Amino acid sequence: MIKAEKLVKRFGRFTAVDGVSFRVSSGQIVGLLGANGAGKSTTMRLLTGYLSADQGTARVGGFDITANRDAAQRLIGYLPESAGGFPQITVREFLAFAGEARNIWGAELRDAIDRVSEMVDLNSALHRRMSELSKGWRQRAWFAQALLHDPSALILDEPTDGLDPNQKDRARALIRDAAKDKAIILSTHILEEAEELCDRVIVIDHGRVVRDLPCQDLLDERGRLAPAFRQLTGGSAERPGGNP
Ligand code: ATP
Repeated sequence: MIKAEKLVKRFGRFTAVDGVSFRVSSGQIVGLLGANGAGKSTTMRLLTGYLSADQGTARVGGFDITANRDAAQRLIGYLPESAGGFPQITVREFLAFAGEARNIWGAELRDAIDRVSEMVDLNSALHRRMSELSKGWRQRAWFAQALLHDPSALILDEPTDGLDPNQKDRARALIRDAAKDKAIILSTHILEEAEELCDRVIVIDHGRVVRDLPCQDLLDERGRLAPAFRQLTGGSAERPGGNP
């Protein structure tokens, strides 16, 4: 469903994503793990068409994100990292805008908003302006827009960031449920979340895939990912960006 092939992205002379390849099938939840600056968000932006690759290809449902961007994007629900914006409109208006941008109108749009508001427990905030929302509620509004068109692929950049513990549980249950008929890629710094949710993990370091394995294969005897994560990424200095 999602296929990245030798993706490369440079910012000036700095290579943020350096030949990343992987595939994600429907029914799978794949975790992108890596230190700050490893290249996770940039990879996700390449997959969703919000950045264009310098080399390589990304396909969703067989559609090339560059050559067939509209068709590919119709299949993608994307939750960007630290999503914000749209301060003056209400959550309902934001969802309506997101739906119309995806060509959902009228009764179908109202039904879609009802459905996702229920799913992410957003009903009590629908009348509030985006600028008035706390971080966790804003995250829920953006989560809802990613689900609005019932996409076949979900690309979620730190989906539980800012959520309270109850909402984290709810979001994880939602992701697990969505995986029944979707391909899901998520990034997280919460290794327990990857242990709990992911069938497979892809560890990215300095823009490269250093491991792509079933989550099970990276767990230690206590069922923890942390030792393998430290070993795979611990030696790498955090990349603030720019040329070394
Ligand atoms: P984090 O876990 O901190 O969110 P990440 O793995 O998602 O990190 P990216 O956001 O993909 O990392 O960034 C990878 C590298 O590319 C970083 O060094 C970052 O500074 C750099 N980078 C990302 N976007 C740009 C940009 N628009 N211009 C210049 N450099 C950028």
